Amino acid sequence: MKVIDHINESNETLFSFEILPPLKGKSIQSIFNGIDPLMEFKPKFINVTYHREEYIYKERDKGLLEKVAIRKRPGTVGICAAIMNKYHVDAVPHLICGGFSKDETENALIDLQFLGIDNVLALRGDPIKTESSFTPNPNGHKYAVNLIEQIVQMNKGTYTLDDIQLEPTNFCIGAAGYPEKHFEAMNMATDLQYLKQKVDKGADYIVTQLFYDNKKFFEFVDKCRAAGITVPIIPGLKPVTKLRHISFLPKFFNIDFPDELSSELLKCKTDEEVRNLGIEWGIAQTKELKEANVPCIHYYTMSNSSEVKSIASEVF
Ligand code: FAD
Repeated sequence: MKVIDHINESNETLFSFEILPPLKGKSIQSIFNGIDPLMEFKPKFINVTYHREEYIYKERDKGLLEKVAIRKRPGTVGICAAIMNKYHVDAVPHLICGGFSKDETENALIDLQFLGIDNVLALRGDPIKTESSFTPNPNGHKYAVNLIEQIVQMNKGTYTLDDIQLEPTNFCIGAAGYPEKHFEAMNMATDLQYLKQKVDKGADYIVTQLFYDNKKFFEFVDKCRAAGITVPIIPGLKPVTKLRHISFLPKFFNIDFPDELSSELLKCKTDEEVRNLGIEWGIAQTKELKEANVPCIHYYTMSNSSEVKSIASEVF
């Protein structure tokens, strides 16, 4: 079933979460161990992230270096199929532009359709470590909006290489939004303009980057509505759980902690103290968002479900 139908059919805030495929060589049991404790909150769908290849240099004979592509977390499509089979819950694979040609994207979507997966979160992807800025595959997409256009074309039966119409796919498409602006955007206004373009081209709903200040989320929703974006907007939350998150999260996700949270974080001396504060903050954020009747809350578990469980136990 499509995410948008789950949202439209519910009159209360849905619970949902995102998982990462395990590191290469680890078993799928680690995924189930992360999902099992959250099943009591009845997620209607579970997102699975996509991790593209990175390049490393391996030393070869005579001092030569060989550039080798490695993928640390493969398995997104297989995990989605396993989730649907084991839990009978819809899976939402993330699909990115980076590293994909249009043909490879088409083949990936055909695999998803054969597996009965109705949903895709369409993203551009970040630059890889060896790139100073995002570089698309020579035959791939530069922006998420172009990927959305390709999926919409397939939903109409128009495939990349074929001159004849084929059986249409039927994907529900999600897109990413940034309450604190995407780090490359010139300003909030242009970022919103491109977000609207993604919706106009076919995104059915938006999931936001994580944030810690609900005020910024509510302002973002107001700006989206003023810009004519009418689709559901799902807030993304991630509890702070470790001392190292204090500098890592703002840097990696280009977000700010609100003053009230940063002053409490500064008092923390141990991971345990940060974790307790993160859970308390996550509960307060969730309660306020639920009171505001958001359609769903998307928790970023980052392979660790215990803090999300502590939050959900209080509010769902
Ligand atoms: P876009 O919408 O393409 O936007 C990228 C930048 O280009 C923005 O600054 C935007 O303002 C600008 N822009 C957009 N369209 C145009 C245009 N037509 N002309 C000029 N400028 C334009 N990354 C992964 O690799 N794997 C994942 O699984 C993953 N999951 C994510 C889940 C969520 C909910 C979110 C919020 C992010 C996720 N990301 C993931 C990260 C995401 O790939 C990065 O944030 C990436 O840098 C931008 O992706 P996007 O889809 O928002 O890109």
